[in-house]
Amino acid sequence: MRKLMLGLMGVMVAALATLAAQRPSPIKVMLLDGESGGPYHKWQLGTPVLKRVLEETGLFQVDVVTTPATTGTLTDFRPDFQAYRVVVWNYDAPDERWAEPLRRAFEQYVSAGGGVVIVHAANNAFSGWQAYNEMIGVGGWRGRTEASGPYWYYRDDTLVSDAAAGPGASHGRRTPAAITIRTSDHPITRGLPPVWMHQGDEVYAHLRGPGKNMTVLATAFSDPANAGSGRHEPMLMAMTFGKGRIFHTAFGHDVNALSCVGFVVTMQRGTEWAATGAVTQQVPTTFPTAATVSYRTDLAALDPNFARGLNPLDAKP
Ligand code: ZN
Repeated sequence: MRKLMLGLMGVMVAALATLAAQRPSPIKVMLLDGESGGPYHKWQLGTPVLKRVLEETGLFQVDVVTTPATTGTLTDFRPDFQAYRVVVWNYDAPDERWAEPLRRAFEQYVSAGGGVVIVHAANNAFSGWQAYNEMIGVGGWRGRTEASGPYWYYRDDTLVSDAAAGPGASHGRRTPAAITIRTSDHPITRGLPPVWMHQGDEVYAHLRGPGKNMTVLATAFSDPANAGSGRHEPMLMAMTFGKGRIFHTAFGHDVNALSCVGFVVTMQRGTEWAATGAVTQQVPTTFPTAATVSYRTDLAALDPNFARGLNPLDAKP
């Protein structure tokens, strides 16, 4: 009997080992939140959407790490970056919040190959932290000026850096916008339509920063008729910092914007790329086209404002 049990256990262990070999262990993701620049960025509502869209791929396992609330410097906050392949930033804080030891720990994590994803207002954070600004490529607000780096935008088919003086960042009302792919042979953008409509969202403009090791993947025209710059502004970017890869999406003001299939798919692909350097996901047939937006009502419903029946396309500024 004992021999039979051991034999059965052996078979089961072998079967489990086969299963494990077929299904690679998920990519561990730290989803960082806990603060924003104002009540207009509701990180508490955005985090469940981001967690869901990552985990539904079957590729990722997401742990939410929320910073303690403080108006001073975080003293006891030392997250275990090393336990994760990628850190997703749904987080925006002023310079005083992170002291040198925490900054160094994050810089070392990324330099050594850790992945980073920057979502929307995370590019507002830490205007005075040089390494962070090199990671994000471009950023806005929190006192950014020409001292933060040039403006970056597309003129015709060329990426321009413009050292003109002026504040960093602006945006108009949240209306759907046409997104133009500028780098179509990158793992994140391969197979996406060359032009597609993004759901109503803030089109960030006048972002400025070092733009170091930066590939602009996609732009949106910032329409002067909607308080825009009249330029084709960077929306999706890929950077490197040491051995680390950074995917930066300027999209995602609120749950309405996050529910765009274009946001979801580029977020899923960008996170995989930041973690592994490759993208294994197919582009779904529901991806928006040059003529139509495409959004997920199941995601929009996670925001009580939209769940009450508000048409996401009618979002007010
Ligand atoms: Zn916003």
